[in-house]
Amino acid sequence: MKRLNDIFTKDIQTAVIAGHVNPDGDCVGSATALLGYVRRNYPWIDVSLYLERPKEALMFLPGLCEEVFTEPAMRSVDLFVTCDVSTKDRIAAAGALFDAAGKTVSIDHHASNPLFADVNIVDGEAGSCAEVLFTLFEEEKISRDIAISLYTGIIHDTGVFQYSNVRPSTLRIAATLLEKGVPAAKIIDESFNERTLVQNRVLGYVLAREKTFMEGRIAAGCISLEEMRQCGAEKKDLDPIVASLRLTAGAECAVFVYETEPGTSKVSLRSSSETDVAKVAALFGGGGHTKAAGCTVQGKPEEVLVLLTEALGKEMNADD
Ligand code: AMP
Ligand code: MN
Ligand code: MN
Repeated sequence: MKRLNDIFTKDIQTAVIAGHVNPDGDCVGSATALLGYVRRNYPWIDVSLYLERPKEALMFLPGLCEEVFTEPAMRSVDLFVTCDVSTKDRIAAAGALFDAAGKTVSIDHHASNPLFADVNIVDGEAGSCAEVLFTLFEEEKISRDIAISLYTGIIHDTGVFQYSNVRPSTLRIAATLLEKGVPAAKIIDESFNERTLVQNRVLGYVLAREKTFMEGRIAAGCISLEEMRQCGAEKKDLDPIVASLRLTAGAECAVFVYETEPGTSKVSLRSSSETDVAKVAALFGGGGHTKAAGCTVQGKPEEVLVLLTEALGKEMNADD
């Protein structure tokens, strides 16, 4: 908490909070929580939030409005804070403002974070950026709205407390947030479990074509832009797919590839085993966590899928 008082000092007049490209629940939850906390506790600061538009299910988060999705007009700012951003090049669009800022701060939980800001508050052991923020906030200064944002961040990055990144402290933090009046069941259902008809259709499409490699140890799926168009799906509709692939019995890793532009593919990797998928993603210029990582690779989805399963297979063999 002292650390935040050292960051949001009296000489800071303007601040921008930003997240990563293609923002997920942890990114949007963390950024809106920090926005709420700064507005409430450092009222002399003119703070604004800049995010790419997230999926509809996250639009209930306190502080989100059209302005948040419009790139900031100012040319410089006293303070620029990133939430859940693992590398500088993943800052969504406002990257130029980062370079022009008087001071930069990175609050994050990616162990691979190269500490790209002036001040780096990075806990690679934390399951979510929201957990890192909770430890920086003074408990009595957390409003119900801030608690809602933090809780949403935590459930999205831990798969509602299911993944191996859950620590005892994760559940203690969640308990404190529940005491603040977070409507947990509603948030879990509406922001995490619920899927639109289009999301269900595209999930079904990919799962119906799922392939396995390495004697079933890798579960893989992909989709092209043309196939997405046929399903009426956009990239934000693809969220639940890699988690479903990971649940294939016998699969230790899952690979999901989708085309973002003709000839460019985004890869999502997940691991349920010792295999460090961040290492594999790094081979292709990406990164992430040991159990959830990603990269962008030139090539059609089917071609990229083959490249990735080969690299993943090598990594798995090296671990055996
Ligand atoms: P995703 O599969 O997109 O949900 O990403 C899983 C994790 O990998 C997230 O924590 C991301 O921060 C990270 N990640 C995804 N894509 C990239 C990339 N191109 N470069 C670096 N990290 C990435
Ligand atoms: Mn994230
Ligand atoms: Mn995160």
